[in-house]
Amino acid sequence: MSARLIIMGPQGSGKGTQAARLAERLGVPAISTGDIFRANVKGGTELGNQAKAIMDAGDLVPDSLTNAMVRDRLAEADTAEGFILDGYPRNAAQVEALDAVLAERGVTLDAVVELSADRDELLARLARRAVVEGRADDTEEAISRRLAIYAEQTAPLTDAYAERGLLVAVDGIGDVDDVTERLMAALASRVG
Ligand code: ADP
Repeated sequence: MSARLIIMGPQGSGKGTQAARLAERLGVPAISTGDIFRANVKGGTELGNQAKAIMDAGDLVPDSLTNAMVRDRLAEADTAEGFILDGYPRNAAQVEALDAVLAERGVTLDAVVELSADRDELLARLARRAVVEGRADDTEEAISRRLAIYAEQTAPLTDAYAERGLLVAVDGIGDVDDVTERLMAALASRVG
């Protein structure tokens, strides 16, 4: 079984939750750039110190740092049979950097999943998450900044992946288990 996937979707679309579930089902690691950055902030590493203020404002960490971090992560042994990238790539330069890393490793993507949800649902979920998780970047300003960056820089990336025949669109509204089943069904012909 091999599964090399990207999961895309705006903040609140349930992307992180579904990435973890798909990873479990497919037997490959879910790699969340946001989680890796947060772990670095918590651990007080140099990378974490560089990223913290940027993340709190809802801005993107510079590509140089992000691309190097992903390159290192994809060199780890647990990605031999695949991975699910959650939160990366987020702009055109990151798409190029990822293409280069995969080409060096002699592998290709199997699919890019786009999880959709309407804006009212996204905002409702984010408001709930802000209460439950207490993330430093779940302030109103940082959330709207992240949604704006998603719309401007990240959503357009689906066009490029659609042209490559990799895009799979899945409705992210509904019960968490139902969405997982929808994802598994949509990916069935692409992984394995
Ligand atoms: P969300 O999807 O709610 O924005 P993430 O956990 O994916 O949350 O990301 C949190 C923050 O981590 C981002 O706002 C950004 O500052 C940083 N980050 C995560 N992934 C990337 C990336 N690919 N490029 C640049 N910054 C990133």
